Parts: sequence; C-alpha cells; structure tokens
Amino acid sequence: MAFRHEIEALSSQNANLCFQCSKCSASCPLADMMDLKPAQVMHSIRLGREEAVLNSTAIWLCLGCETCSARCPQQVEPAAAMAAARVIALKRGIQPSVKEVGIYYRGFVDNMRLNGKIHDASVAGVTQLLTGQFTSSLPMAWKLLTHGRLKPPPLPFGGGGFRRLYNNVLAKERET
Ligand code: SF4
Ligand code: SF4
Repeated sequence: MAFRHEIEALSSQNANLCFQCSKCSASCPLADMMDLKPAQVMHSIRLGREEAVLNSTAIWLCLGCETCSARCPQQVEPAAAMAAARVIALKRGIQPSVKEVGIYYRGFVDNMRLNGKIHDASVAGVTQLLTGQFTSSLPMAWKLLTHGRLKPPPLPFGGGGFRRLYNNVLAKERET
C-alpha cells in the first residue's frame, strides 16, 4: 500500500486536501524544533516521502495538542497524521529519532503494564534515569516532594487487565 494510503487508513486524513497554506506550521508550538514543519510533513506524505517522514524528529516531537488541526482551513488534521506516522515507524522497527521520546513512550507503556494506570513521577524518573538527566532533575524532584506534589507509586498489582488487553492487541496485530 502506498505510504499516503497507509497514513489515510490509520488516521482518516487525506493529505491531498492540504493546499500548503502553512497555518498548521505557524500555529504549532514545537515547529521551531522540528526538522519538518507540520505543513512539510503533510506535503511529504502527499509526495510519498516515506523515509523523510518516518525518520523525522517532527513526528516524535509532536505533542498531540491539535492546534494545527483546529487551525486548518481544509479540516485536515496533521496531528492525526503525525500519530499515524509514529505507529507506522514503530511497526517497521524504526527507532524514534528523538531518543528521549522513545524512552518516555516505553516507560509509559511499562508503567501501565505494571500498575494498570500511570504514575507520572515513575515515568518521568525512569525517563530521566535512562537519558542521563536524573541528577539534574533532583532539585526539582525535591521541591515537588517537599511541597507534597509527589505521590508514592501504587503497589504493582493493578496491571492485569491492561496486560491482557495489550497482549490481545499484539496477538491480533501478528495475525494481520
Ligand atoms: S493548515 Fe491544513 S491546508 Fe494548511 S498546510 Fe496545514 S494541513 Fe495543509
Ligand atoms: S498536534 Fe503536534 S504538529 Fe500539531 S500543533 Fe500540536 S505539536 Fe504541533
């Protein structure tokens, strides 16, 4: 299946509707840090520039805030297209081009598997540990702790339901 159609199947977004006005890029809070701006991502999808999109920092830096989608005069949703590109990249075994985001995603899913819900401080702590930023974040962690903003992690017994769901999804993906 052509890359554009793969994106469309996962996100219901038709890149051909994009007329490159760049309103999405102008309103994206992360555009300055992205190698491809949201409008360029849409254009690249349209042109089938699969490698450029799947290896871009843009799809991993995207916050999913949907400002781009809200501003698009064509009712195209770049946020949904970015999310679809992340799924395709992971399915193809392409490592996230922003290492920290990949580690954060992994920590998020592992936390769900363990607890059945997210304990934010654990996900942030593991991410910072694995990205070598743990020490620099200790002052902030201490401040949050002393202001009662850090809750202890839950006992790791609540993840059974999520693990079953997760394994079922994996099994279904393997079948297709
Ligand atoms: S705002 Fe919509 S039409 Fe304009 S460039 Fe972005 S996706 Fe394309
Ligand atoms: S959803 Fe992503 S691409 Fe769209 S404005 Fe937010 S950060 Fe930018």
